[in-house]
Amino acid sequence: MISTKRLTVVEHPLVQHKLSYLRDKETPTVHFRKLANEITLLLTYEATKDFPTEDYEIETPLERMTARRIHGKKVAVCPVLRAGVGMLDGVLSLVSSARVGFIGMYRDEETLEAVQYYSKLPTHLVERDVIILDPMLATGHSSVAAIEMVKEAGAHSVTLVCIVAAPEGIDHVHSLHPDVHIVCAAVDRGLNEHGYIVPGLGDAGDRLYGTK
Ligand code: URA
Repeated sequence: MISTKRLTVVEHPLVQHKLSYLRDKETPTVHFRKLANEITLLLTYEATKDFPTEDYEIETPLERMTARRIHGKKVAVCPVLRAGVGMLDGVLSLVSSARVGFIGMYRDEETLEAVQYYSKLPTHLVERDVIILDPMLATGHSSVAAIEMVKEAGAHSVTLVCIVAAPEGIDHVHSLHPDVHIVCAAVDRGLNEHGYIVPGLGDAGDRLYGTK
């Protein structure tokens, strides 16, 4: 695993194995969906590794002991529509009590700017660890817009979990939001003239939902 304070690239063999199938253009939608959630589950394991814990007194069938539980308010997980929804079950299978918010954003294919059309966020974001889900961190415009949306709603602990990131997107996010921890499975070479990540995996939304 390559990890700095602000960027974690999860190089675990299981993640890289599953990612190779996700990238393969022959992988059908049914498998793509399952793999996206499995990879997200593994990324979530890393994304949550610094969550604070507190001592908790319990009784096992044999004796009393001091165990540890995650301290603080519940997590808020916010997929960016629509492709981020393809990662949601992966997070919820590990953090089942998380609150869920939705951020509707599409990319203007001419300007590559993010256009926001919907948001429904959980309450009390100020007290929560917020995990934003966006599988492809390309230019970073939609991720930055999503980060700004949750921060405006009070969040100050924000992690961005994506599957594939481009260096341009990472730089853009960190130039504006240096506090945000980015967790991904790979950092690719860059962007093509259409703003797609190369080598990438294509349009994550289309591949998740079979719309192409
Ligand atoms: N969105 C995608 O789905 N794929 C890319 O490569 C870039 C943005």
